Amino acid sequence: MSVRDPYSGTEQELRERLRALTDEVQRNELLLKKTQEREVELLRAHSLGELFHRVVSGLRDAYGLDLVTLSLFDPQHELRHLSGTENLSSAVIEEVRFVDAVSPLAPLLAQFDRPWLGPYNPADHDLLVPPTLKSGSVALIPLPRDNRAIGVVAFGSRDTQRFTGDLAADFLAHLGKVVAISLENAVNRARLVRSGVTDFLTGWHNRRYFHNRLREELARAERTEKALSCLMIDIDHFKEINDRFGHLAGDEALKEVARRAEGEIRAGDTGARFGGDEFAILLAGAEATNALKLAERIHHAVGTTPIRVHGGAHVTVTLSLGVATAKPQPRSHDYKALAERLIAEADAALYRAKSAGRNRVEISTHVIG
Ligand code: GH3
Ligand code: MG
Repeated sequence: MSVRDPYSGTEQELRERLRALTDEVQRNELLLKKTQEREVELLRAHSLGELFHRVVSGLRDAYGLDLVTLSLFDPQHELRHLSGTENLSSAVIEEVRFVDAVSPLAPLLAQFDRPWLGPYNPADHDLLVPPTLKSGSVALIPLPRDNRAIGVVAFGSRDTQRFTGDLAADFLAHLGKVVAISLENAVNRARLVRSGVTDFLTGWHNRRYFHNRLREELARAERTEKALSCLMIDIDHFKEINDRFGHLAGDEALKEVARRAEGEIRAGDTGARFGGDEFAILLAGAEATNALKLAERIHHAVGTTPIRVHGGAHVTVTLSLGVATAKPQPRSHDYKALAERLIAEADAALYRAKSAGRNRVEISTHVIG
């Protein structure tokens, strides 16, 4: 029979505790160094796209994480509009989410300036962390600005011990503050360059913006398993307006067509002047039937009331419209090719409307996916 030393257990425990603390200090030192390096990179980001990339890919690689997502509160769709001018990488398109309201995320953030670290639970975290993580641990880092959170960075690791309790929460809280400041800087910069993506005459977006935005919305449609529709609109015999009433009258007609169409679309939809007398509208979340209804409303709003132009004349302007819908299959990924196919399909429908005599809406029966 052995006599148990009453102190050995305690010493063993102390030794283990000391080892755990030393490990934690080492981990924290490493994290601090990396965090400082990363923070400088974030603050130096010149555009929203670059910042998004440095958050979702840069931080993931630097910390050896399995995934990093960025969710941003964007009730006015301003961030979506501003970042839509940039050629975003597919990683950014997949891992950056915009949410209209804070409320769905609020229960996940006990405090707006304090990260939450703990085991990954798909049911609780599905808004911030995709189910591809399967299991592990997460750190949900709020981005504080003016006493509220403007978004959340989520770190995901398959290692269940990676984010536990309060481990390194201070570093992560600080990182959240830096991301928030970097975001504000990038938004301000993007606002300045925004004029480069707006059509001067109508105030609508231009074609470049539309293409970038379409790619983003296709990625989002894939993630949310929703449809996305595109309207292509062209004024009928527009050249005659210029020829009969002059170029200024033509400009006024273009502006009025854009104004009337804008009156029919929702805030989250994207209208762009594609060039000349051609416009495109992107309807996020819209199935073909809803897109067709909108096309008919625009057709009606423009065609039924003559437009008063320069010199006092009233001209009746009619439109031809083409409608096409996409429902990206899971893992479609090549959003650029999908975007081109969707635009081509809407264009083909528009061409059919022109060939059939103009002043009408044609819809494509082929859903792009
Ligand atoms: P269709 O029914 O086949 O579309 O005939 P259309 O006359 O509308 O087509 P076309 O593409 O031949 O004419 C478009 C005209 O739009 C030609 C161009 O001079 C004119 N245009 C393009 N941009 C502007 C602009 O900014 N202001 C004005 N006033 N005219 C423009
Ligand atoms: Mg035309």
